[in-house]
Amino acid sequence: MNILVINAGSSSLKYQLLDPETGRLLAKGLCERIGIDGKFTYKPQIEGKAEQKAIDIPMPTHSEAIGAVLNALVDKDNGVLSSMSEIDAVGHRVVHGGERFASSVLLTEDVIKAIEACNPLAPLHNPANLIGISACTDVLGKETPQVAVFDTAFHQTMPPVAYTYPIPYEYYEQDKVRRYGFHGTSHRFVSQRVAAMLGRPIEELKVITCHLGNGSSIAAIQGGKCVDTTMGLTPLAGLPMGTRAGDMDAGVMEFLMNKYDLSIKEMMNILNKKSGVQGISGVSSDFRDLYAAADSGNVRARLAIDVFAYSVKKYIGAYAAVMGGVDAIVFTAGVGENNPALRSQIVEGLAYMGVAPLNETENARRGDEVDVSGQGSKVRVLVIPTNEELMIAMDTAEIVKQR
Ligand code: ADP
Repeated sequence: MNILVINAGSSSLKYQLLDPETGRLLAKGLCERIGIDGKFTYKPQIEGKAEQKAIDIPMPTHSEAIGAVLNALVDKDNGVLSSMSEIDAVGHRVVHGGERFASSVLLTEDVIKAIEACNPLAPLHNPANLIGISACTDVLGKETPQVAVFDTAFHQTMPPVAYTYPIPYEYYEQDKVRRYGFHGTSHRFVSQRVAAMLGRPIEELKVITCHLGNGSSIAAIQGGKCVDTTMGLTPLAGLPMGTRAGDMDAGVMEFLMNKYDLSIKEMMNILNKKSGVQGISGVSSDFRDLYAAADSGNVRARLAIDVFAYSVKKYIGAYAAVMGGVDAIVFTAGVGENNPALRSQIVEGLAYMGVAPLNETENARRGDEVDVSGQGSKVRVLVIPTNEELMIAMDTAEIVKQR
């Protein structure tokens, strides 16, 4: 099967063409500056001779962007398909499914209306995802089935005790203000890989998945179901991130807004774009830069790394307590997959809960699924590359087959 996976933002659109049965990636690319001018960077084939290309194509709307993607896929010399009809279905990443969507779903007019109803919960993301969906319908027609895969859906199994905020209950009842969580597609993908790697049924396992990238979140997964996660109503909660603050005393906002006469918009901009490890270090949001600076003696860069590692460790302890133990801790995403020093630092001192210091030979390996647990570790520590696009393609194929 050929599944086109689309991740549409307000002025960008990422895509991959995948075969979910073999996991094979056939083509991928990125449209940027949609509505401004239009830049298309793509690899028309992954395994063939075609080089990565970057071309300027006018993209007044997302429809032109989808048109450019499809043309590249069926290009006579470099494409991977002989016609658009070889695309069996399209899977869309949709950020917020609210309480309505606990799993992926075939897109119909009713479903689109229900996604629109979730727009207030993710005003920057959901409308852009919907534009991507309607652009695909414009270009591919209604015969090609489309599926929505939500970032929030996997976390819908959280019990009320984990998702209820301690504010007046009316805000939940009337406005649906509660913890939702994000990165659900990634947490679900890696938790399924844990079961495969350990050769044990997922129903038996207690897993803590650490998705550590530019945006970071952790999930507690018991028997394959999410029971808690660090992000909240929005992705601003939980761990400190590249530029987002994560958990913090809400009183800090009042203090700073009064002292510096900041509007709520300015305050939110600081918390979303100027905080996290960038804010602490003053150096960068990128962990590679932070390590380079820390190694040459920058004290604030070292502190930023330490605050991040401390926060991850704190949640690992909290989630082990919530689940009454843990069988596996997983590291994934840009930082989780590529930073051995940080992984070692995070699990340091957890021997009391059955996590031995890591096997540093295995921990130094890259790019694979690796068990990095140290000798005698009761808890497996695993590095598993995430693949949200493949998870979206797998869901899409399954839903389309069941139609
Ligand atoms: P996003 O949340 O935007 O998807 P990523 O998951 O790509 O972000 O994570 C970005 C972070 O991953 C950066 O801080 C970067 O330093 C780190 N990272 C990515 N690739 C590598 C690498 N090869 N080696 C070390 N760190 C890496």
